[in-house]
Amino acid sequence: MASSSGDTRDIVNPYDQSVVRTVDEGNEADARAAVAAARTAFDEGEWSAWTPRERSELLHRVAEHLQRDRDMIARLETLDTGKTLVEGGIDVDDVTAVFHYYADLAGTESGRTVETGDPRVRSRVVHEPVGVCTMITPWNYPLLQASWKVAPALAAGNTMVLKPSELTPLSALRMVELIEEAGVPEGVVNLVLGAGATAGAPLVDSPDVDLVSFTGGLETGRSLMRTAAGTVKNIALELGGKNPNIVFADADLDAAVDYALMAAFLHAGQVCSAGTRLIVEDTVHDEFVGELVARTERIRLGNGLDPDTESGPLVSAEHLAKVESYVRLGSEEGATLVAGGRRPDDPALRDGFFYRPTVFDDCTGDMRLVQEETFGPILTVERFSDEDRAVEIGNDTEYGLAGAVWTRDTARAERVARRLRHGTVWINDFGTYLPQAEWGGFKRSGIGRELGHDGLAEYRQTKHIYENTAPVPQRWFAR
Ligand code: NAD
Repeated sequence: MASSSGDTRDIVNPYDQSVVRTVDEGNEADARAAVAAARTAFDEGEWSAWTPRERSELLHRVAEHLQRDRDMIARLETLDTGKTLVEGGIDVDDVTAVFHYYADLAGTESGRTVETGDPRVRSRVVHEPVGVCTMITPWNYPLLQASWKVAPALAAGNTMVLKPSELTPLSALRMVELIEEAGVPEGVVNLVLGAGATAGAPLVDSPDVDLVSFTGGLETGRSLMRTAAGTVKNIALELGGKNPNIVFADADLDAAVDYALMAAFLHAGQVCSAGTRLIVEDTVHDEFVGELVARTERIRLGNGLDPDTESGPLVSAEHLAKVESYVRLGSEEGATLVAGGRRPDDPALRDGFFYRPTVFDDCTGDMRLVQEETFGPILTVERFSDEDRAVEIGNDTEYGLAGAVWTRDTARAERVARRLRHGTVWINDFGTYLPQAEWGGFKRSGIGRELGHDGLAEYRQTKHIYENTAPVPQRWFAR
């Protein structure tokens, strides 16, 4: 949607600060117009008469278009976020799978008949779309996070306003174009670009919005929840994480080191489920951390478009400054810096927002570095000597998004997995998610679930229809 003010914003490549594209900068009026369009499309448009099968076919077409344009979209994601092209391509494939998955679910029957024992009564529970949905998404996985909301919301028959992060709007913009190309009626999917306070806030306080689905930081989530309370709307929150990665001495240590690196440093650690808290059994600590540090020092930073690059830059100068301040804090708090802790020396990376992958050893749960989400390439290492203590450390966080346990003892793996208070737990793995399996946070990592059946249920509301097929006067009053 074009900006009514004519304002624009330069979208900057974090690799070298070049301008990738200039986009419209939406404001409050644009946001309110988008909500009005979504409201009209829901209340009066043809969309509400579409059958689940028609919606399903639409979603399959979107998925096909995503694959058709895979390389172009992956490249956009790389230019916009700095992630590697390989990661950008994986994101497009994952998003395609999400659209196919919800296309298949859209057509499935979700209501039920209630048996009352009374032959005169027909009681049914049916599911209907919630209505107008606001979707606000972050900059780290722009396309992926938007699709986890848009695909189920369309499958359920809602209309929507999507506001991607002002830092990385390009892939969402392309996705909305593909949905239009696939034949969605006008007004069903509306895009607002711009800053949170100006273009995002009106999408949350509007009485015409029925649901707000937000992915982003804890503080923003808190504030949105307060605002949404004013009009008592449904709210779904996917917030931050401080995710434990627990390694027992009997684990396959070679694989565990490899995954620990990926968990902490993929996409420069700008991953909500990043394994930023490594918790290692005492007896293998030195060997494990030694290998980890050696491999951390060898990680190749660079342009995401370069096939040799293993990790790109941070998203912005502001975010780089935040990461640097956490490194200073770690040293002040008494953690031992054993890798990184600085910007790269390579002059070719001078104009980018790069930071070397960083490891702090000798960390403890009372450190802010260990408790707060740095959202950068910083890994903290803690030690444990028995299973209870490992679980205690793993749960010692206000967040509860994800965690992992590494061990060859299957009974212990199961015990620890069940005791960790996190929405996803991996056993001898890290970071894998499936469109079919629910994703979301315990504790302050959020409310509600995305993906899986629950991810569709977020966008449906339940109605009970009770029919009395043979009404007789009750004579309760005025007998
Ligand atoms: P953020 O909270 O700063 O911004 C997220 C979005 O909210 C952006 O689109 C922003 O413009 C918008 N926004 C900001 N203020 C607003 C307001 N007052 N009203 C309406 N909208 C507003 O988060 P970020 O820095 O973009 O993303 C990083 C955060 O996202 C991290 O905390 C990360 O853990 C979290 N995240 C969580 C998940 C998950 O699945 N749980 C996934 C990805 C990212």
